[in-house]
Amino acid sequence: MKKILAFLLLIISVTVQSQTTALKEKYQLLPFGSVKPSGWIKEQMQKDMAGFVGNLDQIVPSLINDPIYGEGRLQKHSKAKDLGNLKSGDAGGDDQYKWWNSETQSNWWDGYIRNALLVNDTKAIEKIKKYIDRILATQDADGYLGIYDKELRYQFTAENGELWSKATLYRGLLAYYEYTHDQKVWNALLKAINNVMQHYPIDHSDPFNVGKGFSGGVAHGLTFTDVLDRMYQLTGNKKYWDYALFLFMNFSNNFTSEKDVQLKSIFNPDYKLQSHAVHTYEHLRPLIVAAYASGNNEMQKALEIYLTRIKNCSTLTGAAIGDEWIGGRTANSTTIGYEYCSIHELMNSYTVLLQKSGNPQNADAAENIFYNAAQGSRDPDHSGIAYLKTDNSYEMMGTKNGDVEAGRNQTRYKYSPAHQDVAVCCNPNAGRITPYFIQSSWLKETDSILVAALLAPTVVNTAVKKIKLSIEEITNYPYSNNFIFKISPEKNVRFTLKIRKPDWVSNIITKEKYSVENGYILINRIFKSNDSVTIDFPTEVKVREDNNHEKYFSYGALVFAMPIEATAIKGKIYVADFSDWIYKPMSNTRYSYVDSKQAYYENGKIIVSLKNQNNNSIEKTVLIPFGKTILRQVSFK
Ligand SMILES: [Zn+2]
Repeated sequence: MKKILAFLLLIISVTVQSQTTALKEKYQLLPFGSVKPSGWIKEQMQKDMAGFVGNLDQIVPSLINDPIYGEGRLQKHSKAKDLGNLKSGDAGGDDQYKWWNSETQSNWWDGYIRNALLVNDTKAIEKIKKYIDRILATQDADGYLGIYDKELRYQFTAENGELWSKATLYRGLLAYYEYTHDQKVWNALLKAINNVMQHYPIDHSDPFNVGKGFSGGVAHGLTFTDVLDRMYQLTGNKKYWDYALFLFMNFSNNFTSEKDVQLKSIFNPDYKLQSHAVHTYEHLRPLIVAAYASGNNEMQKALEIYLTRIKNCSTLTGAAIGDEWIGGRTANSTTIGYEYCSIHELMNSYTVLLQKSGNPQNADAAENIFYNAAQGSRDPDHSGIAYLKTDNSYEMMGTKNGDVEAGRNQTRYKYSPAHQDVAVCCNPNAGRITPYFIQSSWLKETDSILVAALLAPTVVNTAVKKIKLSIEEITNYPYSNNFIFKISPEKNVRFTLKIRKPDWVSNIITKEKYSVENGYILINRIFKSNDSVTIDFPTEVKVREDNNHEKYFSYGALVFAMPIEATAIKGKIYVADFSDWIYKPMSNTRYSYVDSKQAYYENGKIIVSLKNQNNNSIEKTVLIPFGKTILRQVSFK
């Protein structure tokens, strides 16, 4: 077996490097800011800007103000920083704490920049301009824009954050540039990326060869391919994709503590996902980019195998095991949790695959995560999110549904604006998820085909055949399934409006002439100023089964759950209105599934008869959207 595997990997290495016909991307991402939120999503983003997304620098000032990219760059004798966390359940040792603030800051700024620009928060935009000037001023003359002093950079033999601190920072800079076309930001990015490519030359360096110790930061650094992928899309220069492929192959061939995405793991039929979950799901993107950049069939196969493995780790709300190592397990709605970071990373990986492949299944997966798991990990009453959450959530008192984990002071199952006692990773990512979702909601296929790929209340501004137009998607989706697309071209123009047909849609109501192709509804006609398209997807309650044959109820894109009343208890107070909250259940009654016959939908709720396990009586119960619950039962045996 081992010999066959080694031979196979040799073949892949040879063919990957010799075959240079990249695959064509099916859809193009529009420049950041072309798609703006409206309706309930915009309101939620504004709430987030008034909440922890807009105020994280007040909530954990020492982490955000650490001048780690500037005069506080890491040197040979830099000590690990006190980040105010308990270090409980961290396997990585002290070296990772040195670079952590770069991730916290840059992921937070990335989300902050994107939210502020999308909701046009003028005060925040002023603050962003100052931040951009400050961060660009740290760039060295040779282009280096990162967290290490000259004596350390690009010559590591152990855990480090060289590429990771850059990936997180440059993603935010790219968004800012795409929105503002600020040339000084573009020039800084070109120089900074060039600096990496010079010091880790393609095919003649070994950036992921860092010994046999824990190397979580190095493994995160593989997502530098996010930056390279976008640079390829913005410039059309294949050197960025070639370099991304080089990074992926170099990662795949070296020792790492996060080996799920390595080709030898993927092509080993007995292998089960086991790495730190966030790594596993973010690494889907470098694999996608490598598969497209190489055009290699074996890489396509690897991608299919990897996706199937992730599906087996996914719960009914689309989130996947992430508490925090996967450890060869399969998903479970009650006993296995997921981290907010992993929710974002997996959703973002599906949106990238949607853009490149056009396969609408990836849109269904992204919508499921965004509208169910991600919404269901937010505190509906206070500004905060759960670091860890389970689908069936019977208590949020720090620990998981009554479990006491041996040797671990578990505090992740609660709501917080920062989660500083664990790590300030999830809250920054909670600020990123919505703008990333919005950006992928409208894609372009050709100059005359526009695609509503993820359904959401949005406004897109773009052009077809060089004629400017805006389309307002008026909807309360996924809380209703009716859409009005208000289309305003500058002059009459024929083009195709392509609307994704979600997997649950069986009935399409519209006055338009349309065809359905590969999961999309195509409307091709001449659109005039003040034109509109109305489309409805009537549906009914569906009873579904998760991987463990537990039943659950959905209506359209939404999963519904039975809320469990809880007492809210205030925890640590950060500043003024920002504090942790834990939730103690007021009832421990569980329910079982009876049959599907009486389930019906009424005014945003599902009414269904379920069996009370305490007294075996059949009770009429009310289920509400999963995303609006705190404690809940969502799956029924
Ligand atoms: Zn996290």
